Amino acid sequence: MQDIKARIAELIRIINQDNYEYYTIDNPSVSDQEYDRLIQELIKLEEKHPLLKHPDSPTIRVGGEVLTQFKKIEHQISMLSLGNVFNEEQIKEFDERIRKIGIMPHYICELKIDGLAVSLTYENGKLIRGATRGNGVVGEDITNNVKTIKSIPLILTEKVNVEVRGEIYMSKKTFAEINSKREKEGLELFKNPRNAAAGSVRNLDSKITASRKLDAFIYHLPNPQNYGLKTHEEALKYMRKLGFKINPYITYANNISDVLKFITKWAEGRDDLPYEIDGIVIKLNNIKDQEKVGFTSKYPKWATAYKFPAIEVVTRLKDIIFTVGRTGQITPNAILEPVLISGSLVSRATLHNENYIKEKDIKIGDMVIVRKAGDVIPEVFRVDKTRRDGSEQKFVMINKCPMCGSLLKPSASKIDYFCTNNECDARKIEELIHFVSKEAMDIEGLGDRIIEDFYNFGYIKKITDIYKLTNYSEELMELEGFGSKKINNILDSIENSKHNSLEKLLFGLGIKQVGQKNAKILAKKYNDINNLMQATREELSLIPDIGPIISNNIIDYFNKKENLMLINELKELGLNVNYLGSKTKEHPEINNKKFVITGTLKRSREETKNLIELLGGIVTESVSKKTDVLILGDNPGIKYNKALALGIIIWTEEELNKKLN
Ligand code: NAD
Repeated sequence: MQDIKARIAELIRIINQDNYEYYTIDNPSVSDQEYDRLIQELIKLEEKHPLLKHPDSPTIRVGGEVLTQFKKIEHQISMLSLGNVFNEEQIKEFDERIRKIGIMPHYICELKIDGLAVSLTYENGKLIRGATRGNGVVGEDITNNVKTIKSIPLILTEKVNVEVRGEIYMSKKTFAEINSKREKEGLELFKNPRNAAAGSVRNLDSKITASRKLDAFIYHLPNPQNYGLKTHEEALKYMRKLGFKINPYITYANNISDVLKFITKWAEGRDDLPYEIDGIVIKLNNIKDQEKVGFTSKYPKWATAYKFPAIEVVTRLKDIIFTVGRTGQITPNAILEPVLISGSLVSRATLHNENYIKEKDIKIGDMVIVRKAGDVIPEVFRVDKTRRDGSEQKFVMINKCPMCGSLLKPSASKIDYFCTNNECDARKIEELIHFVSKEAMDIEGLGDRIIEDFYNFGYIKKITDIYKLTNYSEELMELEGFGSKKINNILDSIENSKHNSLEKLLFGLGIKQVGQKNAKILAKKYNDINNLMQATREELSLIPDIGPIISNNIIDYFNKKENLMLINELKELGLNVNYLGSKTKEHPEINNKKFVITGTLKRSREETKNLIELLGGIVTESVSKKTDVLILGDNPGIKYNKALALGIIIWTEEELNKKLN
């Protein structure tokens, strides 16, 4: 039982981190299929052990967080996700569940566009608001950005008040064009059209959004009965009449076998579409039937998404080479006979680690099944052992760093190996690439290849050299392929990065396990790097989300003389080391406490949340043992009962006001 509890906690931690990377910063590090596999594992464990189900489990809430740079918008009707099915059996079970309620179902089948959900509000037929889904309850105000999307009408054909929902996406062609331009400019490439669309629409500069040639299909009208409509099909027709772009392939299905035909057609036909789809959405057509079937907290029970499996191809594994990451981690990579996977030529794939290769019994010369899941990193997934002829060679793990020759050291779990030479060139280059990356110091123009060149030419050997690059400006302008404009842009970007808020620097320093989220938590808490450097191990380990292991890493980092020298030098070079986000005033009864709000308040919920956060409190969506205070409004929901049952402190709005005074 203890093991299961630990696995559930581990899954929640990994999934929450994946959610953050995918929804909040639009930069996933695992494939969608890998993510779905983890979610399915968690769902199964929770079904088997309902008592271990965490009240904040990612299986019961919509994943996204809202970026603070955008104005927040509370959705009048929650924007939910969709349940997932992965095979024919599960599709039939979905149909069965509906029939059991006494409904004779007819469905509408739609393509599942791989983009980003949007809500559009019109008053008197005029577009007044565009919002992202966010966490389903609160989204980000992206009105100015959606106005740049040509297929989103600014004025409708009728003067109605209406909210519609749909998907903003980037076509495959635009995606390829933008990435090829970015490659030439030495900028980091977008991972896939979905991330490119999400990053473009959640950009503070509408001019950038406009330049990304986004598009949108509209597929949902909340409360269609208010417009006298009885079916989803009628709602789609009505929205088309109002001027919205509706996907032309939407199809009516009389029964589940029609649905299966639609799936087969598009599983084969998806490559020919000008945009990416990641599945098929099946929706009950009749609105009264939809109401009868209802919702869970995360998705409607009257619709589901069939997710396409990852795209797999067979090719030969020609060799295994090793790369060295920023932390010194050694990764084995497959060199493949080049093969086309959904339009791009793949000649390398990850093999993760020694264990992975041994477990799958992968040998050099094997015919392997490579899968490119969610367009992230292709991986060797399986070996076709029936095609072995005896000439295959056994894999042997190296024991020395392929770059500097130092002896490798295994991690505590013995799964990963590390080069321990801090001066190893490969590590240095990766460290620099990480430091300038968008999520860290965001220095535009210093792409991976340029960093590598500047390192090899001796211009940038360590982080501080980036800020001394200006000494070589004339020399750099003479380099082939550079010129004054490009170099000046790079130097400007370096100069601008000096004014970044502390969390970007902390993340860029690459302290072990201090990812973007933890960097922000630390920056917010300590305000100034000097305060953080003086924090004790005990103090750090008490911070929620940090814990003992990460606090050890932080202490170890600041105990090293070379790191202290680096920070001093960065300060001398003029880098900001303060947190520039909203300054918290640290109210004694609110600071660091977890709050949940329920019921209707006099002040808007958003305002109350902002006030609490300004005073250092943390506002979460659901009540759990970790909640400190429940703020109680009129007509409270189930959160109130739960807080009572858990003995959580309850403040009315008046009590909260008194404390604020
Ligand atoms: P989802 O993508 O499975 O389905 C819901 C979404 O589908 C809707 O919000 C809408 O945006 C979209 N959609 C597209 N066409 C639609 C149509 N015709 N009708 C209705 N909706 C349509 O759910 P989600 O909550 O947005 O995301 C979960 C999925 O995202 C996961 O299953 C995984 O694939 C991916 N994900 C990946 C990572 C990662 O790290 N790789 C992390 C989180 C989520």
